Amino acid sequence: MDHLRELYQEVILDHNKSPRNCRAMEAPDRQAEGYNPLCGDRLTLYITLDGDVITDVSFEGSGCAISTASASMLTEAVKGKTLAEAEQQFKAFHRLTTEGDMDEATLGKLTIFAGVQEFPMRVKCATLSWHTLKSALENQDTVAKTE
Ligand code: ZN
Repeated sequence: MDHLRELYQEVILDHNKSPRNCRAMEAPDRQAEGYNPLCGDRLTLYITLDGDVITDVSFEGSGCAISTASASMLTEAVKGKTLAEAEQQFKAFHRLTTEGDMDEATLGKLTIFAGVQEFPMRVKCATLSWHTLKSALENQDTVAKTE
């Protein structure tokens, strides 16, 4: 567990310093906003689809290190996945952060977030981007287009 904790801090710091896929998208197929009032984290998630495959995903927002790192890692995790696979990842991530269920086959390096279950406030930060992803996947009619 000590090793995991060290890895957790290292990865969070890295993704917070240089978030991956942190940019707005001009004409996303799906878009959703997330807000965590407990910490003040806000983010917008953008998704481009080809059929039911997520071909591009990005986010922008402002929040604490954990929410930013989680969003950054989410974009890396779901890119190239189908909607059904992304839904599975959402469920597995939820189980990881609430029950400590290490589903490594589904989550890969996202399992470093297992440590947050000890800190209920931090769970909200870590899962914000995933809840935003879920609403982006479900609410296909509420997409705000740029034109
Ligand atoms: Zn936060």
